[in-house]
Amino acid sequence: MATEDIGTPDAPPAPRAAGAGGGRAAPLPANEAERIAALMEFELLDTSSEQSYDDMTMLAAMICNTPMAMISLIETDRQWFKSRVGLEATELPRELAFCPHAILHPDQLLLVPDATQDSRFADNPLVTGGPNVRFYAGAPLVTPEGHAIGTLCVVDRKPQSLTEGQQAALQALARQTMVQLELRRNLLASEQRNLTDALTATANRRAFTLRLHAEWKRLARHQRPLSLLMIDVDHFKRFNDRFGHPAGDLVLMRLVKLIGGALREHDLLARYGGEEFAVILPESDATAAEAVAQRVRGAVANAIWPLRAVTVSVGVATALPTTTQEMNSLVIAADEALYAAKGAGRDQVQVAPAG
Ligand code: GH3
Ligand code: MG
Ligand code: MG
Repeated sequence: MATEDIGTPDAPPAPRAAGAGGGRAAPLPANEAERIAALMEFELLDTSSEQSYDDMTMLAAMICNTPMAMISLIETDRQWFKSRVGLEATELPRELAFCPHAILHPDQLLLVPDATQDSRFADNPLVTGGPNVRFYAGAPLVTPEGHAIGTLCVVDRKPQSLTEGQQAALQALARQTMVQLELRRNLLASEQRNLTDALTATANRRAFTLRLHAEWKRLARHQRPLSLLMIDVDHFKRFNDRFGHPAGDLVLMRLVKLIGGALREHDLLARYGGEEFAVILPESDATAAEAVAQRVRGAVANAIWPLRAVTVSVGVATALPTTTQEMNSLVIAADEALYAAKGAGRDQVQVAPAG
């Protein structure tokens, strides 16, 4: 199969007014915001090339007998290629691209036999110069929900046509590409579920452990201390006994919001167990961690609770970059500090001795 490197377009395109010179950028699909949201669920943009997608473009180019084939994803301002044959560029401005026209009709193949004869593309810089595109065929990649997130397309530098068989094959390959993409999305969603607590939608114990491992590795490398908070609801059994478990569940959900509101973006709040939460505070020394713990305790104690006041006790522990201890010793130290806070009367913060 012949492939040729058509390089990047000669010059960056100047924005053009709609309809100027006969050619024009594609209008936005009616459901553009949802379409972009759907695209983002695949977490595919700017990822490395993968054999399963490269197989699709290789087959598309061979079947359609074109030097170029791409799997193109249409983002807000650009089209990005997950896979490409015969093309050096990894992305193109959306306003220049052919594929945004193709996704306007998710159930149809867009066929452009000769771009110089098509008012949408005749004055497109990709046609008048650069790679001198003449032939284009794009099969939309459509999610089961009906969003066209991109295309599988083939391109040639000379006018061309496709037989009905080639058209059907290109559409079949687009569907197979979508099957690959769906597998990826399902895998990502199930990974996310495995790391999320079903009741409170915050990170679960598994996510906590994974993150703590990662932060423990960073500890020595970045020479910054790492702190941990263990938070436990005070007398929660009594609350459940008096108001019932559903009301207790609502408390746990609200606690996640209150505690989360007292944290920084890079801190991780996890539900450690029943009515216990853990917070990983990267790059935080004991003083900073104690301040966060007090903020958390205060946010809970000062919130207005409809049934009965709710308070939490908090244990704080910090690991220094020079520590020779095991990771678990940090969890144990925070637990012991929490136990001390309970013993000292609850609704308070205790800090573990430096270790
Ligand atoms: P302390 O102040 O010493 O922590 O007292 P406590 O009553 O909170 O502690 P204890 O360990 O005796 O009881 C914890 C309670 O948390 C018992 C359990 O019913 C409740 N709990 C654990 N998980 C959930 C949950 O998912 N939902 C509800 N509603 N309650 C839960
Ligand atoms: Mg408790
Ligand atoms: Mg407990």
